[in-house]
Amino acid sequence: MIQETAMKIIDILEKRFPDACLLLNYRNAFELLVVTILAAQAPDERVNQVSPSLFQKYPNPAAMAEADDEEMDKIIQTISFYRQKGRNIRAMSKKIIKDFQGEVPKKVEELVQLNGVGRKTANIVLANGFGIPAIPVDTHVARVSQRLGWSEFSNPDQIESDLAKIFPREKWIRVTHLLGFLGRYICQAKKPKCWECPVTNWCPYPGKTISKD
Ligand code: SF4
Repeated sequence: MIQETAMKIIDILEKRFPDACLLLNYRNAFELLVVTILAAQAPDERVNQVSPSLFQKYPNPAAMAEADDEEMDKIIQTISFYRQKGRNIRAMSKKIIKDFQGEVPKKVEELVQLNGVGRKTANIVLANGFGIPAIPVDTHVARVSQRLGWSEFSNPDQIESDLAKIFPREKWIRVTHLLGFLGRYICQAKKPKCWECPVTNWCPYPGKTISKD
C-alpha cells in the first residue's frame, strides 16, 4: 500500500517537476566528484560560478593532484570552508591516481575511501556520474521523506534504506531528484508551502500549512 501511494506521489511530482535534476554543472564523473565536495554547505550556484575556471586550470585528477595549494585556493575562495575542501580535493585526486588507476571508482565502498567523500557524495556520483541506481539523501530528500511518512529516522543512511525498500531500483535516481526539487521549492524547512503542494492530499505531515499567512 505504501509503495502504491509512493509511486502515485512520484508520478505527480514528475508532472510538476519534469526538469528535476542535479543543479551542479559537470562534464564527467571526476568533475562531479569535485563539485559535490565543493557544494557541501555551499550554494550550488556559487560552485557553478567557480568550477569552469577550476577545471580549465586542473582538467583531470593528475593536474588536480599536483595543484599548488595557494593557486587553487584563490580560485575557490568564495566557497565556504574552501581551504579544507581544497585539501580534500587534492588528496582525493592523489588517491585516485595511486589506488584507482586515475579513474573515479564505481563502488560506494571505494568512493568513501576518498578524502572528503561520505556516503551521500558517493551516491551522488554513482547516480549522476555513472547512472548506477543509488539514493543520495541530502537535507531536502531527508525532510520530505520524513514528512511524507516514508521514514521516521533522521539519519540519512536509515532514510536511504527506507526509501530503497519502498521504490524499485530503477526509480531510485529519479525519486531523489524529484524529492530534492519538492523540498527545495515547496516543502521548505521552516514553512512548507502546503497550499501549493501537488501531493498535499497524500501527505500525512501533521504540521501542514493551509495558507501563506
Ligand atoms: S503537503 Fe506540505 S508537508 Fe506535505 S509534502 Fe507537501 S509541502 Fe511538504
